[in-house]
Amino acid sequence: MKSFVNYSENSDFSIHNIPFGVAVFNKEYIACCTRIGDMVIDLATLYDYGYFDELEGLNDNVFEAYTLNEFIELGKPVTSAVRLRIQELLDENSKLASDEKTIEECFFNLDQVKMMMPVHVANYTDFYSSIEHATNVGKMFRDPDNALLPNWKHLPVGYHGRASSIVISGTEIHRPMGQTKPAGADMPVFGPSRQLDFELEMAFIVNKNTEMGDRISTAEAEDAIFGMVIFNDWSARDIQSWEYVPLGPFLGKNFGSSVSPWVVTLEALEPFRTASPQQEPEVLEYLKFSGEKNIDIKLEVYLKPQNGTDTLIAASNYKYMYWNMAQQLAHHTVNGCNVEVGDMYASGTISGDEAQSYGSMLELTWRGQNPLKLADGSERKFIEDHDTVTMKAWAAKDGIRVGFGEVTGTILPAKDF
Ligand code: MN
Repeated sequence: MKSFVNYSENSDFSIHNIPFGVAVFNKEYIACCTRIGDMVIDLATLYDYGYFDELEGLNDNVFEAYTLNEFIELGKPVTSAVRLRIQELLDENSKLASDEKTIEECFFNLDQVKMMMPVHVANYTDFYSSIEHATNVGKMFRDPDNALLPNWKHLPVGYHGRASSIVISGTEIHRPMGQTKPAGADMPVFGPSRQLDFELEMAFIVNKNTEMGDRISTAEAEDAIFGMVIFNDWSARDIQSWEYVPLGPFLGKNFGSSVSPWVVTLEALEPFRTASPQQEPEVLEYLKFSGEKNIDIKLEVYLKPQNGTDTLIAASNYKYMYWNMAQQLAHHTVNGCNVEVGDMYASGTISGDEAQSYGSMLELTWRGQNPLKLADGSERKFIEDHDTVTMKAWAAKDGIRVGFGEVTGTILPAKDF
């Protein structure tokens, strides 16, 4: 496959990708879009020009919308056919390749668009599915010799998060204020978090509504998943460690999470599937699955101080996940909990087994004991005001590259403090 749009061989947005997003074009007009190389394509106008006319199930211009929800609710048969249609249209020999008027109206350079939240997030759940991360945290906060809690290998542990504070890449986040209890103190204190952290995660987005009482099996799960984004689950460790007993994460988590703008479909990630880790002890029947359910997605985290340069501080991989997406969704619905279009399910921090592959400052600095050295010589135990954290994710194999671009966010001082 070769496109009439030129792009570099390192582009995340090759003709093999065809992700979906929502953009403001020329500061005046909002529509659903896709991207190839550095070109963003307005799908609503492309629809009006008749390029999707013969596709079944696409009877309205669902791209004329502020979110992808209406489009993804059409389900895999339609969304997958649309993606393949766009791929054909971008081929160097397609009818579109020589239709200069349509290209002029629908194709925009990156600097002419501003990306928005791709979906309205109905509900957000965060899992805890990396065995390396759970082991590191267990060693730090509980028992170094018995880090994993008894339930961990029997179910994908998770909690319900906050959908309202999930924001698009580039949104500035204020350092959270809150209640903490410093080591050795008798009483809690109130003030800005002093242990602000990121969490390197991926999230999947669900394409259907289910009825209460219904379950989604591991075999059905992937049909219910439209695609994935990079997810930075900003975390205030000092607020978290004081508040979390006995009910779990709350204000240390819900002040903000950042997502990358392009939703990469499961179909685009198909070539990068890989074997899942052996699960021992054997899981219960409803969590069993067949096929390769893990995906080889390379992950990087960069930290940049104000007016400074980026330092690569972590490199991990989504393939390390102990619990896969199908198991997460099967478990989430096994009690009859209904899911909704636009639901976002984050993986939990994705750590590997080497110190450079840890997906949070908490682990990279081992709770602040081993500060990170940045390119400019400065050190970090946790994130400081005006620091920018950027995460990148991409898959590459046999000359094919499919990526997510990046999610970035800068921390501002606490508001009115
Ligand atoms: Mn998290």
